[in-house]
This record gives sequence, structure tokens and C-alpha cells, in this order.
Amino acid sequence: MSDIEIPESHPRYQSLLTRHRIEAGVEKGITSKQGLIAQGRGEAFDYLLGEQTIPSADEAARVAAASLLLADHPVISVNGNVAALCPKEIIELADAVDADIEVNLFNRTEERIQAIVEHLREHGADEVKGLTADGRIPGIDHERAKVDADGIESADVVVVPLEDGDRAEALGAMGKTEIVVDLNPMSRSAQVATIPIVDNIMRAVPNITAHARDLKDASRDELEAIVDAFDADEALAAAERAIRSGDE
Ligand code: ATP
Ligand code: MG
Repeated sequence: MSDIEIPESHPRYQSLLTRHRIEAGVEKGITSKQGLIAQGRGEAFDYLLGEQTIPSADEAARVAAASLLLADHPVISVNGNVAALCPKEIIELADAVDADIEVNLFNRTEERIQAIVEHLREHGADEVKGLTADGRIPGIDHERAKVDADGIESADVVVVPLEDGDRAEALGAMGKTEIVVDLNPMSRSAQVATIPIVDNIMRAVPNITAHARDLKDASRDELEAIVDAFDADEALAAAERAIRSGDE
């Protein structure tokens, strides 16, 4: 999937690129039409945040990196929007923190999972989970509950960019450390996250990777101190303040 020619000097370069990738994702069968609506919702919040990584989101990304480095079995969940927007960056993050990648869809079809797995392989992924679907997330309906037993089901830390609120809550109830990337600090997914990162996934995923590389030689004590000092409610409140005041 090649990107169209958009001059990088265009003031809305990132936004146009994002729209193009989502559109191409729908054409390629990896993003659902519902994904277009989710994207529109995200864009509105990104506009209000000034289309930049606010300091509290950068701090949350660092905490996420520390938590992933401490994890026994970290898993990054990928849906159709994430696959279309930042496949290469997801693979780089997985490499940096030694995480599994699992395709997990809200509107699950085998065909779309297969298309996303292939798309990720084209971008350099070796193993991609999500097709076995022999595990379950308790408390949600059948199709949406399906996960891999040796993937998300047995993960201790999960990265769920753009997860829906329901499933984010159910994953939290399983006792997992949940890292959510969501531009809307009022979304239920962000609210139930252990570590909410209120930022665009196009910026947040490479930012977590950069922090992980930076923290590569940190001791467990140092990493634990970073995770323990984090206050999720304060991070969400800071994002809301940034949206309301237009700065921060
Ligand atoms: P809930 O309250 O149940 O969590 P929701 O408002 O999250 O619902 P959806 O439309 O299913 O409902 O989810 C889309 C979410 O994904 C929105 O919160 C939106 O802000 C976020 N989003 C969309 N695109 C991006 C993106 N590129 N980066 C980060 N977040 C995004
Ligand atoms: Mg949500």
C-alpha cells in the first residue's frame, strides 16, 4: 500500500496521510467501514489537542515502555485501523520490548484477520497471532470474546490501541495491565486503562518504542519506580485540561 503524494509542507500533511491510509485500508479489506467513523472521532480530538503529543501523553508513553519491559508476556493487539495506520511502527515496538502481536477485531471475520496478518507480514512481521482463537475474554459476547490462548489470554501486559470500552473493561477485569492509546480522554477505554495514552497512535506507538530503547539498560527497580509513580487519573485530567484550554 503506497502513500499518495502529499507535500510534507502541507499544513494538514499528517491528517491527510492518515485519511489516505485508512481509506486504502478499507479498499484492501483490512479496515472496516466502522473504522472510518472511529477515525473521524479520533481526528476531532486530535484537532483539539493541537495535533501534538502533550507532555502528559509523553510521560504515559514512557510509563508504558517501562511496563512493557517489565512484563513476562506482553502482547500488542492490532485492529483494522491500527494495521492501516502504523504497521511498521507496531512491529518495531514489538521488537523493542519483545512482545507478541495479535490481531483482534471488534467486527471479527476470518477473512479480515487473514488480510491483516498478511499485511503485517508484508511489513516484516514474523509471527502474528489471532487466527487460533482458542481463548476467551470472560464477560463479553461470543464473537468479540475470542482471543488466542497463548496470546492475549495469557498476557500480563496488553497494548490495546483504539480498543472499544467494553472489551477494555473486560480485559482489565482479567487482571491485566492495560495500555490504551486513545485520543479521547473521556472514552471508556481510556477511563478503564491502567496506562492511558491520550495521543494519536501514529505518534504514540513510535514514542513508546523510543522510550523503550532509552530505558533498555534501566534496572527493574528503576522501571518499577517509573510505573509506580504514574497516576492514570491525573494523566486523563491533564489531557482534558489541554483540550479545554488549548495549551499544555
Ligand atoms: P467507548 O466509550 O466505548 O470507549 P468510543 O468513543 O471509544 O467508545 P469508538 O468509536 O468505538 O468509540 O472508538 C474509537 C476511539 O478511537 C475514539 O475514542 C477515538 O478517539 C479513538 N481514535 C480513533 N482514531 C485514533 C487514532 N488515530 N489514534 C488514537 N485514537 C484514535
Ligand atoms: Mg473507546
